[in-house]
Parts: sequence; structure tokens; C-alpha cells
Amino acid sequence: MTEDRFETIAIHAGQDPDPATGSVIVPIYATSTYVQEAPGVHKGYEYSRSDNPTRTALQTQLAALEGVLPGADGGCVATSSGLAATSLIGYLLKPGDHVVISNDAYGGTFRLFASVLADHGIEWSAADLTLDGGLEAALKPRTKLVWVETPTNPLLRIVDIAKIVGVAHSVEAMVAVDNTFATPFFQQPLELGADMVMHSSTKYLGGHSDAVGGAIITNNAELYDRLKFLQNALGPVPGPFDAYLFLRGIKTLAVRMERHEQNASAIARFLESDSRVAQVWYPGLASHPGHELAARQMTGFGGMVSFRPSGGLDAANSLVGRTRLFFLAESLGGVESLIETPANMTHMSVDGTDLEVPADLVRASVGIEHVDDLISDLDRALG
Ligand SMILES: *Cc1c(COP(=O)(O)O)cnc(C)c1O
Repeated sequence: MTEDRFETIAIHAGQDPDPATGSVIVPIYATSTYVQEAPGVHKGYEYSRSDNPTRTALQTQLAALEGVLPGADGGCVATSSGLAATSLIGYLLKPGDHVVISNDAYGGTFRLFASVLADHGIEWSAADLTLDGGLEAALKPRTKLVWVETPTNPLLRIVDIAKIVGVAHSVEAMVAVDNTFATPFFQQPLELGADMVMHSSTKYLGGHSDAVGGAIITNNAELYDRLKFLQNALGPVPGPFDAYLFLRGIKTLAVRMERHEQNASAIARFLESDSRVAQVWYPGLASHPGHELAARQMTGFGGMVSFRPSGGLDAANSLVGRTRLFFLAESLGGVESLIETPANMTHMSVDGTDLEVPADLVRASVGIEHVDDLISDLDRALG
């Protein structure tokens, strides 16, 4: 097991054939409760909020993909959404504790800290973690958590995880990395010293735009125990059907990510060379400010491309209304291509803050359709 590589782990970790029937695929254990032989004497399952075998398989699979192999310290807790995972991490904090959040983090992360956790006494500030000294300037005596998102959404800026970990750990703050955009296939934050990895499994992990879910993975035994306790105490767990969809989606994560990246990189190059496009953000482009760091920190550049058409806001709005293959929709990471304008869709909650994104920014989640068809679609829509 320990010697197995990513693709093999994705298909086998936590997924031994079902002992009862030999079923090759982990069954969907659609049950809320489990028979006990005598009070407290059972096969490890009591009630499905606490544990469910389909969810256990998913958690084992995901932990292993983030480098926490079966038997190692730590593990994964799967949640009912990415934001439920972020909320559980928020519950690790106490009133008066302070959190530093990566500038241009996912809008919902920002909203959770600013509009929910702030009311419970958790203080926060946003900082540009891509800048030298950016984190140091934002630290407070009670900074207990640094929230890193890299690549960031939607500007795909790259934060140096190992460097942030060095600074955070020197003041005894934990580091959580939102690894949704990169996935463990392209980026291993725990290996770089992060304490926790958070996912919106809704995106690339599920990969088929058919379920909402999240996860937290840690290699710290004590943190894992607290998160596992919170998962049960707060209760935002995925049902067995959703756990099955993620387990199934993750089996093909490696091949999907390779194709997402090939397509995104071809599209980024097409857009960069086209005069109808003013600016392109893709970490794989040499012109991207975080390119070298991304090349060092990640094993691939991902499937997200952001750009601004030359014609400004009108051009952006008409472009996203004209694509045929790129569906105009929020979300990302599915096999089908999606396109949106973050300023008035996914990032409305950051309007008027220093996390604001350009109004004419277009974000594309490049799917795994044939790349020539995707490029023709954008070419036509650019008008
Ligand atoms: C979608 C997303 C989230 C939130 O996840 P949900 O599953 O929608 O709750 C968090 N971070 C990033 C980067 C995302 O894309």
C-alpha cells in the first residue's frame, strides 16, 4: 500500500471488495443505524451521523491521496459541503482568536468569517499572502489560524505554502490550505507543512457536477480527533449516496486532471495570443506572476483560466452569453466546461471589499471536451 502511487491509491485505498458479498465496488450503505449484539458491542458502526461505511471508504481514499495513508496519524472527515468543512475548522477556534485569510479567497469563505464567525467572536483579517511580509504584517497576538487558498479564486495567484507555514508555526498558528483548485493530484499541502487541507469536493474531486460535498484532511492525530468530534457533534455529514458519488469520481481524478490541464493550458495560450483578449491569468503561462512558484510547488497548473476581454464589461457579458459548450454557470471542476463573470456571480459577496475582482473578469473552468471544440467555441463567442 505505502508504495502505491496516486492513481493506484485513488482506486484502491479504503476500497477492498465488500467482505459480505465480494462486491468489487463499495456498497452504498443506506442505513441510519446498525444492529448491536449487546449494548455497546458492535462492528464499529452505531449511527450514520457518527460513521457510515461508504463515508469511511471515501475518507480513507481522500486521506491517502493527501498523503495520510491507512494506519498513519490523522485522517479525513468528509462533510456535506466545502463550506461545512470550513465551518468545522472555524469551530476549532475560540472567541478572541484571530484568523488571517488569503486575499482573494473563495467568496463564501470570506462571507463565513466576516458575517457568521465574526458574530461568535472570531476575529479575522484579509492579507495578501503572495507578498513578502504579507502574513507578518497581518499577525496579531491571538492569530491561531492562517487560511491559505492557492491557486486563489478567481485570479489564480500562487501562495508559497512552505513559507507561510514557517511564519505561522513560529507564532503557533495553524495553517489550513483550501486545495480545491489544485486537488491532491497537483499539490500536496501537508507535505509542505500545512496542518489541514480543506476541499470543496463539489468541484474536481466529484468531477461531474452532480453532488455537493467537502472534506478536511490532517496528519495531526490530535487535530483529527477534534475534527472527527466536531463532525459528529455538529453533524454536517454527506449521506451515503453522495459519499459514493465522490468515491466514484475520485477514482478517475488523475486522468481527468491531466486532461483538464492540457486543455486549460492550450486555451490560455490561445487567449494570450488573441488581440480580442486584454489579459490572461493561468499559472502555467510564463507571463503569470506566480509561474515559477507554481512550477516548484505544484506538479501541474490546473484547469482554471481567467481573462479579461479587450472590450471591457460589455464584451465580457456578451462573451459569456454566447458560448455554446462553456455553460454560463457558477461552480467549476466538472468534466463539462463552465464560464462565468465572478464580479456579479460567485464573488458578489466581496463587492466593495479589498477582495474585489475586476468587473470584466471572465473565469473559465475548462472541461475535458475536445480542446479544438473548446477553442472554436471561445473564438466564436469572442465575436
Ligand atoms: C466551491 C468552493 C468552496 C465552497 O465549497 P462548497 O462545496 O460550495 O460549499 C470553497 N473553496 C473553493 C476554492 C471553492 O471553489
